[in-house]
Amino acid sequence: MDRAEYERLVRIDREHSWHPFTQMKVWVSEDPLIIASGEGNYLVDVHGVKYLDGVSSLWCNVHGHRKRELDESLVAQAGRIAHSTMLGLANIPATELASELIEIAPADLTRVFYSDSGAESVEIALRMAAQYWQLRGERARTRFVALEGSYHGDTTGAVSVGYSEPFHVHIRSLLFQAVKIRPPQVFRAQQGLTPGEALQQALSEARDVIAQHPNHIAALIIEPMMQGAAGMWDHPASYLRDVAHMVREAGGLVIADEVATGFGRTGAMFACEHAALAPDLMCVGKGLTGGYLPLAATFAREAIYDAFLGEPEEYRAFYYGHTYTGNPLAAAVARENLRLFDNERVIDRIQPRISQLRRGLSELVAPLLHVTDVRQVGLMVGIEIMRDPQQRTQYAASDHIGARVTQEARNRGVVIRNLGDVVILMPPLSIGEAELDFLLKVTQASIEQVTGG
Ligand SMILES: *Cc1c(COP(=O)(O)O)cnc(C)c1O
Repeated sequence: MDRAEYERLVRIDREHSWHPFTQMKVWVSEDPLIIASGEGNYLVDVHGVKYLDGVSSLWCNVHGHRKRELDESLVAQAGRIAHSTMLGLANIPATELASELIEIAPADLTRVFYSDSGAESVEIALRMAAQYWQLRGERARTRFVALEGSYHGDTTGAVSVGYSEPFHVHIRSLLFQAVKIRPPQVFRAQQGLTPGEALQQALSEARDVIAQHPNHIAALIIEPMMQGAAGMWDHPASYLRDVAHMVREAGGLVIADEVATGFGRTGAMFACEHAALAPDLMCVGKGLTGGYLPLAATFAREAIYDAFLGEPEEYRAFYYGHTYTGNPLAAAVARENLRLFDNERVIDRIQPRISQLRRGLSELVAPLLHVTDVRQVGLMVGIEIMRDPQQRTQYAASDHIGARVTQEARNRGVVIRNLGDVVILMPPLSIGEAELDFLLKVTQASIEQVTGG
């Protein structure tokens, strides 16, 4: 693309686009990277420059871009039908996909409810849990337990269980109150406790908080093993298991939000597997179509589904749905995604990459002067940077350290995206050995360049 054409696109973007999670005042002052195509684990911009896709196009790409089998499944389904509604009708791909998903889902999940985004899959889980208790006659079970720093999407209900002060302060009046518990990360990284002490502290606090709400808890919602958007806060499998157990003892349901962790990202198909946790409701999104199309799903146990049964005039049905619920194009691609997991033995194949990543991070990144903490579960990584790691002094927000590392990495041919001063790496599951080395070296060099150490 020539310079004039690029500038025309930039002009239109500046005049009419409004980008998500973006301070547009800054955006319009910079030259945007405009992606024209993709090739395997690389993004290609309008000038033909290639960039390694270091965060899987916001955590969703699985097998790389322009994966032949996924492309073909999309085209084949387009030759049949692109969309028909699931309200009052069924379609072939969404029907087949539901049973294929249940086959791989954690034990006891038997039902699949589709939507278009992770946030919606969370709304659905919250609403299913809330209505379930009303239908069961336990009217006081209306409270949701959530982890501090958790992120469950940007719709209003999802924000209520994942509140973050700077992002959401302006819409506080719209939100309902969740019961917050503090995960081990808060005690370990923020208060300097050892991992063992932090775990005990987090569990004992959770026990106290849950005990304050007898007979009022509808459900716990949790990102299993890794709280992604918090800045990659990991917790031990035993924390997940014990907190889920406490909530169940108190009569509540357990909702696993696997929107980020699902489909191999943590080294298992679903993160719940690390703790042998069988949730009552589970949300998936991001990787469900291999990162191709907006499709999400909420899985439910049969007992929850059963509670909604009755005569139409009893109005017990789950009154919820979106226009594109169960979209056939997306479902067809999701089916092919599952086939690829099988055919290419993806979960086995990523294990050496996960070890390589752990080794590379400890050799190249953790020793850097301003790196405070490196957190990894599978192929999900957060690298926390501070002005003074010993004193735990952060950089000033106006230093934009994280954003500068992102920019530096881009200059070196890698697209990543920071969360504040946490550098995030989340490569596609298809990343090769040499590509992963490149990602690690660029990350090291970029942090070193920006922090000067
Ligand atoms: C990304 C994410 C969501 C929201 O998904 P969207 O498709 O962006 O709405 C929900 N939960 C978790 C854990 C996520 O990482």
